[in-house]
Amino acid sequence: MRQMKPEFPFPEAMPELAHPAVGEATPSPELLVLNESLAQELGLDPEWLRSDEGIAFLLGQRGGYALAYAGHQFGQYSPLLGDGRALLLGSYGGFELQSKGIGRTPFSRGGDGRGPLDAMLREYLISEYMHAVGISTTRALAVLSTGRKIQRRMVVPAGVVVRVARSHLRVGTFELVSRSGTPEMLSRLEEYAWGIFPGGRDGVAARQCKTVAEWMGVGFVHGVMNTDNCSISGETIDYGPCAFLDTHDPAACFSSIDTQKRYAYGRQPAILQWNLAQLGFTGDFVSMFSDALQEVFSRKLGTADPMGINEWFASLPGKDHTLAHAELPGENPQVIPRNFAVQRALDTANEGDLAPFLECLEVLLRPFEKPADVNWPPKVGLV
Ligand code: AMP
Ligand code: MG
Repeated sequence: MRQMKPEFPFPEAMPELAHPAVGEATPSPELLVLNESLAQELGLDPEWLRSDEGIAFLLGQRGGYALAYAGHQFGQYSPLLGDGRALLLGSYGGFELQSKGIGRTPFSRGGDGRGPLDAMLREYLISEYMHAVGISTTRALAVLSTGRKIQRRMVVPAGVVVRVARSHLRVGTFELVSRSGTPEMLSRLEEYAWGIFPGGRDGVAARQCKTVAEWMGVGFVHGVMNTDNCSISGETIDYGPCAFLDTHDPAACFSSIDTQKRYAYGRQPAILQWNLAQLGFTGDFVSMFSDALQEVFSRKLGTADPMGINEWFASLPGKDHTLAHAELPGENPQVIPRNFAVQRALDTANEGDLAPFLECLEVLLRPFEKPADVNWPPKVGLV
C-alpha cells in the first residue's frame, strides 16, 4: 500500500505561524467512520487509511503543524489562540487535512488537547449535511475513538475528527499578523491568501455573505461566530454548539456559554459585519449581504420578487422553519439534523452503538428527498 506524500504550502509560506507537533499516543485507537468517497476525491486510499499506519497518520502521530492565530472571542480580543488541539496533516489535491482532538500542542494553554467523541461525531454529521445541501463548509473525512476517557461535565469517551478545508486561514490569522507581526509578514500572508482566494478582503466578504445567507436559509445557528471561526475561504468552520431552528425565532440561541445571545440566529448577519470589520473590510456590507440573502430566498421561494421575500421572512416567526419551506415549489431541504434526533444518536454512540448515528447520517446525506419513513424527522418544536 503506497500513500501520497502531503504538501505543506501554508507552513512553507508562513513558517512563523506553523509549529511542528506530533499527536499523542492513544491507548486503543479505532477508525469509527471513514468518508470513503471524500478520501478518493482527495487521492487518499481508504484501505491505507484503515491500516495501522493510516490510523497513526490520521491521529497526527506521524507529525503535523499547529497553526497560530488570534481572534475576538465574544467581542474580546485574545492576542494568541492557535490550534490548541488540532494539527494540520498536509494538503491533498488543494485541500488541507486537519485532525482535531490529537492532544496538546504549543497552543494548548491549560487545555488537554482532547475532545469528546460525541462532539467529533456531531461535527462529522452536521458538516456533511451542510455540504449535502450545497453550503460552503469544511468536510469530514473521519472520526476515530482513542480508547481514552476524558473528564468533561461527565467522564466521556474521547475522539478525533479529521476535517478537510480549502484553507484554515481565518480572520483571526490576519488579526494576529496585522497586530503582532511585521509589515513584511502581512504582505506575505496576503500574497498567499489572495493567491488562493482572489479578491482580497472584498472577496472574503462576498464569500462569507453568501455562506451566512445560506445559513439563514436553512435555519442554521453557528453558535460561536468568533473571528477565529470566520474563514477566509468562506467555508463554514468549527462546528461547536451549532444547531438548526425548529420553530423560526430570530432570538434562537443554542450555546449555553453565550449568555448574552450574541450569536443568536437573527444576529448572525450583524456579527458577520462586525467580524469583517476586524479583518479591515471597508466595503458596503449592507447591500452585499442583502443581495446574497435575496439570492438564497429567491431560490427557496421560487420567486425573485423582493417584496414577497420580505413578507415571507416576516411571516416565519412561530412556524417550523424547515417545514414552512419544504412545502414550497422552490429548492428546499426536506430534512435537517433535528436537535433531539442528533442528541439521541450521539448518546447511543457514546454507549458504543454507532447504528443510530449511521442511520441518521444516511438520511441527512440525501436532504432533498422526503424520507420514506413519515415519522422522520420527528417534528420536535411543533409539539
Ligand atoms: P474553539 O471554541 O473550538 O474554536 O476553540 C477556541 C480555542 O480554544 C482554540 O484556540 C482551541 O484550539 C482551544 N481549545 C479548545 N478546546 C481545547 C482543548 N481541549 N485543549 C486545548 N485547547 C483547546
Ligand atoms: Mg475555533
